[in-house]
Amino acid sequence: MNSALPQLLAQRPDLAARLDTVRRFARRVRATEVHLTNACNLRCRGCWFFANDFDQRTREAGDADAWPRFARELADQGVTAPLLIGGEPTLFPDRVQAFVDVMPYVTLSSNGLRPFPREGFADVNVALTVFGGGTMDDALRGWAPSGRRIQGLLDTALANYRDDDRAVFIYILHPDARDDVADTVRRIEDNGNVCTFGSYSDYDDGVDDPAGRAALVDTALEVAARHPDTVLSPEPYIRAVITGETSFGRFGYDVCPSLSVDHPAHAERLANGNPVLPGFNVWSADRSTLATCCTSGSCATCRDSQAVYSWLLVSLPHFTHRADALEDWLDIAESYWRQFVWSPFHRRAARLQRGVA
Ligand code: SF4
Ligand code: SF4
Repeated sequence: MNSALPQLLAQRPDLAARLDTVRRFARRVRATEVHLTNACNLRCRGCWFFANDFDQRTREAGDADAWPRFARELADQGVTAPLLIGGEPTLFPDRVQAFVDVMPYVTLSSNGLRPFPREGFADVNVALTVFGGGTMDDALRGWAPSGRRIQGLLDTALANYRDDDRAVFIYILHPDARDDVADTVRRIEDNGNVCTFGSYSDYDDGVDDPAGRAALVDTALEVAARHPDTVLSPEPYIRAVITGETSFGRFGYDVCPSLSVDHPAHAERLANGNPVLPGFNVWSADRSTLATCCTSGSCATCRDSQAVYSWLLVSLPHFTHRADALEDWLDIAESYWRQFVWSPFHRRAARLQRGVA
């Protein structure tokens, strides 16, 4: 720990109290990620899962008992917060149920095309993806596996999750769709939902556009400032997720904490001493093969929103030299936890505390 931190906390009991609250909750959360299925009802352009043939790498476990057994094994190992992805997890509520039965902090990542039942899943966080916003969302995501075009994906997701406080839109911003950000956020707000910003990575051509990203940062900050209750992401996170840069370094493989700690490919990375998420692994749909990390493994262009958030969270020592820096870190941490309906930082918990149903 930075030696300046105890002195800083002694001078600022308000920050000490916030740090203590964040740390006490974070200690209860041990995350892992599971590819719940290789199937999906879409074929989005820019989907790392299909662009990298993850659906072909393993055969998914289909028998009814396999998932409850697997979920129990993970729970016995101390996992409390499974992130269920795919493919499309809402296609298999029974598999989600297996995790809900044994773990308190379940999140699934969905394209929003199907409503996920509330009954029995009231405390399951549902992270809904939007690519670009406006017409770009359908252009990138509106593809059925058959190649048929699908229109109105955001309309469908908004209708399926209207006023549903389990839902958080993971709004993946794109430099070419800056003009759509304000309207897309307003629609999310009017629908009674919230969002976190992410940043689009193009796995097809890998071309980066620094000028476009700088302009996108300005747009994102402006819209976030106008919708503070809807856009959960704070400024330091927005800058980091769009540019990959912070004052203490650049996001990339050498610092990314969201990799499978038991995967042999990472022995050298683990040895470099940069922190990783304790016990974090990513399990393929066969439940026995480890994927390398929480997303594609294409580190050069990766801006995975949860990986960038996690990097900032494990980088607390870089924020402890001044009170304003520590405040930045606390804003990042609290906004991260606000995404999850099962966390005490979520607006549901705040409403319950105020006695509002
Ligand atoms: S919905 Fe998700 S898993 Fe399915 S194609 Fe789109 S990004 Fe990939
Ligand atoms: S692809 Fe992204 S999440 Fe995966 S190891 Fe690389 S930087 Fe981390």
